[in-house]
Amino acid sequence: MKKTTFAMFLSLAAALSAAAEGGASTNDPPKIAAEKTRVRCAVCNGKGRLKLRPPDFGQYGGRIESRSHWDVTLDPCPVCGRGRGWRVVWDLTQPEPSTEPPCMTCGWSGLAQCRKCLASGIIKCPRSDCKDGWIVTKAQSTSRRSSSRKPPTVTPCPECKGVGKVECPQCKGMRAELCRRCFGTGRKRR
Ligand SMILES: [Zn+2]
Ligand SMILES: [Zn+2]
Ligand SMILES: [Zn+2]
Ligand SMILES: [Zn+2]
Repeated sequence: MKKTTFAMFLSLAAALSAAAEGGASTNDPPKIAAEKTRVRCAVCNGKGRLKLRPPDFGQYGGRIESRSHWDVTLDPCPVCGRGRGWRVVWDLTQPEPSTEPPCMTCGWSGLAQCRKCLASGIIKCPRSDCKDGWIVTKAQSTSRRSSSRKPPTVTPCPECKGVGKVECPQCKGMRAELCRRCFGTGRKRR
């Protein structure tokens, strides 16, 4: 009885793999060598939203409320957007070698890894006055004496919303760009 079941399993597996091979051979090889994949968003840790605590520059001095009163909730996460918790990126692993000669620049990958973000897809916020996501503005006052006492104002950076990081503008967060020599095909140009 057991042997029969096993034999049935084997024939089923053989039929399935034959079907899979048949399906693959009828498809033309993709024009773009690399494939897209999903990675967990490192900024919100895959949650799709995040809570930020402003840094303490003494701006809370004398206030009664607890510190959490000023926490900033970002929903959805501004880096992965739409509360997904993941980002679409180019798969940086090399695809199966083709029988055609490879591109001299990228090999088989069809990709050039982004140098601006070191193939991470995310860069530090480019705003010069952004300090890890926050804009710290010194208090405006009429006399010198009071300015030394007044704490600064701390607001989330309008560019990165307080995260301190943004999607890389060079590769649009994809970690790499299509190879310019082969237009992403990974094949030697003829
Ligand atoms: Zn995110
Ligand atoms: Zn910023
Ligand atoms: Zn980049
Ligand atoms: Zn190439």
